Amino acid sequence: MYGKMKDDLRNTLKELKKQGLYKTERIITSAQGAEITLQTGETALNFCANNYLGLASHPEIVKASQDIMNDWGFGLSSVRFICGTQQIHKELEKKVSEFLGTEDTILYCAAFDANGGVFEPLLGEDSAIISDELNHASIIDGVRLCKAQRFRYRHSNMEELEKCLQDSQSAKYRIVVTDGVFSMDGDICKLPEIVELCEKYDALVMVDDSHATGYIGDSGRGTAEHFGLMGRIDIITTTFGKAMGGGNGGCTSGRAEIIEMLRQRSRPYLFSNTLAPATVGATMKAIEMLSASSDLQHKVMQNANRFRSQMEAAGFDLVKGDTAIVPVMIYDEPMAIRFADELLKEGVYVIGFVFPVVPRGKARIRVQLSAAHTFEQVDKTVEAFIKVGKNLELI
Ligand SMILES: *Cc1c(COP(=O)(O)O)cnc(C)c1O
Repeated sequence: MYGKMKDDLRNTLKELKKQGLYKTERIITSAQGAEITLQTGETALNFCANNYLGLASHPEIVKASQDIMNDWGFGLSSVRFICGTQQIHKELEKKVSEFLGTEDTILYCAAFDANGGVFEPLLGEDSAIISDELNHASIIDGVRLCKAQRFRYRHSNMEELEKCLQDSQSAKYRIVVTDGVFSMDGDICKLPEIVELCEKYDALVMVDDSHATGYIGDSGRGTAEHFGLMGRIDIITTTFGKAMGGGNGGCTSGRAEIIEMLRQRSRPYLFSNTLAPATVGATMKAIEMLSASSDLQHKVMQNANRFRSQMEAAGFDLVKGDTAIVPVMIYDEPMAIRFADELLKEGVYVIGFVFPVVPRGKARIRVQLSAAHTFEQVDKTVEAFIKVGKNLELI
């Protein structure tokens, strides 16, 4: 049997390569950080990690995860409801709730699982989910796993959102779901308008704050804090795999009864292993560090602002925004790939994003700043962009 499938797979893989859609993985031979080592032995400044606060290899985070393992072991070999709930899992849930200003929190092994398991237990076919067209793949998959009616509005288009809310009035429950920060454009959702519309039309609000938790908002509590809307979001999902240490794990946080029901019915929670103690310890330490000081949040935004202003002055076309994601528009697909390759030769590691990850003709290099970057490293990266941009006659 496999012979047939093997031929098909080989052909499809060949086709992907031909279309330039085949993903190769660059192998890193060091820890994650502002500067990384590649397999060639060369070092590069890393500007494509979600390591917004520079916690991925921070000594305090590493130590916290080592220390907690000494007392609580490596793993639990169990799901939460059998024998996989340690006191530290409850402590982390409490700390996340305090940090996000919510009533309760349920942990998952990934934000992908949080989104995969949030809709089906809460919404049946008599309900409706209204979703921004650029929402993360895990939201789309979560929606697919439930029987609720589906509505979609064009990215951050509030007239279309209102139309969806009008068209779904017969539904028993409605929920509007949006990414807090959108990963490809680095823009923040229009949360004040969304909350206002949801109040007007009696719908719930859900925000996936994976690209925001830890550094958006004055003390890093995310999109709701940024807009002064803490306590008014019904459901927040987020990851610990980006700003919050970059390991893995995620959660759903919000109204007490919703979280209680998820513990009863959410399939990725019920049928997947508990979060490993090392991750729990590191995430608790990250929250503790962020609660004690906002220095890292300020540093990453200073770096982002510095990079933005220098790049604009040099004549690059950036997508405007207030986050640490700075898309440098190249438009042409092969040129974006080439630009990134040339930057690597200058010691700067970034990725060119092309169709189908972004729309056709909107190819870009997505630069992500980190609190781990020094001003010197940011400036060096701008210089490399200018050099390559001039060589390729883009500026
Ligand atoms: C990264 C991301 C996820 C997935 O997070 P994991 O914890 O790695 O599964 C989910 N939603 C959004 C918006 C993301 O950016």
